Amino acid sequence: MTDTYTKLANSPIGKLITNQVGLPRPTILERWSPGDATIGGRVLLGAAPGGRLAGDVATVIASFGATASTELRDDLRTAAAAAGLDAAVWNAEVPGDARFKALVFDATGITDSTQLRELHAFFHPVVRRTQPCSRVVVLGTAPEDTGSPREATAQRALEGFTRSLGKEIGGGSTVQLVYVAPGAEANLASTLRFLLSARSAYVSGQVVRVGKAAGKVPAVDLHRPLDGKVALVTGASRGIGAAIASVLARDGAHIVGLDIPPLADDLAAVTGALGGSSLTCDITAADAPQTIAAFLKEAHGTVDIVVHNAGITQDRTLARMKPERWDRVLDINLSAEERIDDVLLEEGVLAAGSRIVCVSSIAGIAGNNGQTNYGTSKAGVAGMVQALAPVLAKQRITINAVAPGFIETQMTAAVPIAIREAGRRMNSMSQGGLPVDVAEAIAWLAAPDSGGLNGNVVRVCGQSLLGA
Ligand code: NAD
Repeated sequence: MTDTYTKLANSPIGKLITNQVGLPRPTILERWSPGDATIGGRVLLGAAPGGRLAGDVATVIASFGATASTELRDDLRTAAAAAGLDAAVWNAEVPGDARFKALVFDATGITDSTQLRELHAFFHPVVRRTQPCSRVVVLGTAPEDTGSPREATAQRALEGFTRSLGKEIGGGSTVQLVYVAPGAEANLASTLRFLLSARSAYVSGQVVRVGKAAGKVPAVDLHRPLDGKVALVTGASRGIGAAIASVLARDGAHIVGLDIPPLADDLAAVTGALGGSSLTCDITAADAPQTIAAFLKEAHGTVDIVVHNAGITQDRTLARMKPERWDRVLDINLSAEERIDDVLLEEGVLAAGSRIVCVSSIAGIAGNNGQTNYGTSKAGVAGMVQALAPVLAKQRITINAVAPGFIETQMTAAVPIAIREAGRRMNSMSQGGLPVDVAEAIAWLAAPDSGGLNGNVVRVCGQSLLGA
């Protein structure tokens, strides 16, 4: 479970050797802790002419208490001043030695491919003036929401820009594209809180869609956004599930942890430490959906957040795979989730405004040798999220998924060393992620002010080379 190479490469002697021999030195990633600022430094905000988001973004950044500055347009200055951002910095030339923790560019004004030059104009002078573990966010309009083929073309082009910059920026920095639907400007805060902070340490090269959400966006406490919420987390006794329980509890939620009966003691240790409660059952049991619904109803009436994390692998090449292996993986990883959601919805336990977050995998996106069963189940999870999103939106319920890449857990520690090292290094961060990185992404999607996020599948993979 330890990445000895990254530790060694960052020791004084290791730095000397890696420099001399020219070996890669993975950056020790910054991760968020309670009490930390949302953005740990200066933000540079820019926009292509005609952009519709800079004013809203300035207001959100100001609400984080960050200092933004811009050298760009007068209308941006006005928006920033209105948001109460530091006027002295705002009006001054950005000093040549200033280093930025975040670069945010509103590209919604780009309606023709010839205007993509605005990306170069904004980023070229500042891209080497970022701090380690900095954050880059480009905001655009999803091609399907644009007004013309030319605009759709130019907005689609932003994906290639952000994914390529993610691969070259280095230093533990991340780059994302956020498509914001017209009218969804008020739904941006939770996404910027995640993508501009150290909470998104291992998320890079992603395309996130923020849509309109019915009703007023609730105000949340920046440090306890899940206060008063009840969260069911399956597979909570260890690994990624235990980290999810711990991060959701840190953010204020009451945890109902679920795992199989043989792991009752481990589960009780996790939930006990978080002041939560435990439910032991096998999610594939015929009565599991009813058992879960009854438990939640009796203890809490309804549930606000359901995290479908429980999952298994049973690897074999297809020619050698017994049908039982196929069935078990599909049933735990996919069909059980469908059955549980159906009953929780039918019985009104998943109430209006609740959040479902599923755990997919990059194996479901890129495919993996020996994992036809697992890849099928995890692609199915992504399909379920995308199919249910518009249906559940009518009840103001959202459903999203995270797709982890190589995460340092007992599961990946058991992988043979050559394959393990390849998995660890073949991404823009040259290292594996931690369970907390997956948990932070889930906490973002589960937040009360994340109503504009529905049907997204967000990879937590350090921008793995596998898959798109
Ligand atoms: P893990 O094996 O450590 O934990 C999985 C948990 O799910 C265990 O506590 C297990 O008891 C529970 N579980 C399994 N079957 C169950 C059932 N029938 N009923 C109730 N609980 C059950 O695995 P992990 O690495 O923490 O993985 C968590 C999730 O993340 C899984 O869905 C996995 O597919 C996914 N994932 C993991 C990685 C990784 O690198 N570790 C990568 C991509 C996706």
